Amino acid sequence: MITITSRTVHDLALCERRAWLDADRSGPAYDAPLTLGIVWDGAGELETRRAAGWADAVEQTGRLIALGAASIFDACVQLDTALDLSDRVFMIRAQIDRLERVEHLGESVYAPVLLRESITADEGDRLMLDLWVWLLDSLGGTPPPAELWLGVDELGRARRRVPHEYDEARLLDVLTRLAALLAREDAPPIHLIEACKACPHRADCHAIARQDGALDLLYGVSQRVRAGLHAAGLRSLAQIAAASPDELQRVKGIGPASAPRIHANARAWLNARPVHLRPLPDRCAAGGWMFDLETLERNGQVVPWCMGWCDVRGQTQIALVGPVQTPETLALPGGQRVTLAPDSDGLWETLAESVAGSAPIFHWTGYDAALLRGTAPRAVRDALEPRFEDLHRHFTQAVSLPLRSTSIKAISTYLGYPWPGYNEWFAAYQDYRYWLDGGPIAALERACGYQRADVQSMAWVWRWWTGAGASTPESAG
Ligand code: SF4
Repeated sequence: MITITSRTVHDLALCERRAWLDADRSGPAYDAPLTLGIVWDGAGELETRRAAGWADAVEQTGRLIALGAASIFDACVQLDTALDLSDRVFMIRAQIDRLERVEHLGESVYAPVLLRESITADEGDRLMLDLWVWLLDSLGGTPPPAELWLGVDELGRARRRVPHEYDEARLLDVLTRLAALLAREDAPPIHLIEACKACPHRADCHAIARQDGALDLLYGVSQRVRAGLHAAGLRSLAQIAAASPDELQRVKGIGPASAPRIHANARAWLNARPVHLRPLPDRCAAGGWMFDLETLERNGQVVPWCMGWCDVRGQTQIALVGPVQTPETLALPGGQRVTLAPDSDGLWETLAESVAGSAPIFHWTGYDAALLRGTAPRAVRDALEPRFEDLHRHFTQAVSLPLRSTSIKAISTYLGYPWPGYNEWFAAYQDYRYWLDGGPIAALERACGYQRADVQSMAWVWRWWTGAGASTPESAG
């Protein structure tokens, strides 16, 4: 019998190959012991029940439903069914984050809830909820309502609850596709996409793509342009590198600006080293400040809650909005000094005072400059805007790396920066909120560590670029 799980359905929305690979590997995990959580009534304590394995967990879930538990966590349900006209039977299994007993159309039903720490959902999440509703409908006879809870904290509280719009036709289409996919002998081909970043097969797929010299590795090349290259007989990185930029321009979608960049990127991948397209601009060579900010949404407006800046050696200063009336300095246990300001205007004014002078203020992408224009007091904006320099733009126009991302994390890590702590803006924000709500200073220190890494990694990239790395460039052809 072929097994389809919630995870398989979620994976298919991202990548067929991942769905195929994960479906093959899902079996043994179901023999492991599982734990169910139960709350018997709305205000009751959470109890836990151990299950010896998957079959036991399914049986216990059925019993808890029959007994009328108010909430069941990690509920296990299974349906064995045909999905196509063949005689294959599929075992469809789901471990549901939370089942809530609710009154719906005059009867008691169990509504599935998908819990996410992040504040956004994706197509895979919606498909998983479709699957859960469909399974509960098949087992109980009524499609229950369902919800997606976003920004769920460690106490199970959600920042947002989104009612799910069940789409049976969408799910049946996915299950039919899965039935065909899982009949394949070999894994589907690799298509490197955004979702690869968080995929457990990333290292293997990248290794295969590198071995094959796949065009998927090229940075900033759309699917349409890749198809054009393929149609022009340029089907590998080696063929791209052997062509001239002028030849590349004959492909639709490639112009005089992008041809040298694609050519350089193919060579960077083939030689596993940076390729320098242009010399270091004087504006960057002179050095200056590295700057970054973190934002939140307040009353419909995006405003900074934290800023960090450092000199080219990495000496860092941090300012953040805190519970103060006027700016105050706080020393963190690790030694980092932080300026607390009453609002985002205070952050901008602290920055302007600290970086007074004429040195450039480097930032990564146009986001920080847009925030300066949109949220800084007029005097600060007038003083700082002419000094803002997009280091990301300068760097990516001049240097091509064998990477599929130009985020500061990807580039600085490639160049050897030992990224400390987490690299999740939302984790930093949660730690900051935790500290504001009375949490320990360690939470604020973690949030500031994230901000510090953002600017120190830029200084690292700048030092690499202006140092030995830029003195032995491979010339762009
Ligand atoms: S790394 Fe990318 S291509 Fe490979 S299985 Fe994962 S999502 Fe698919």
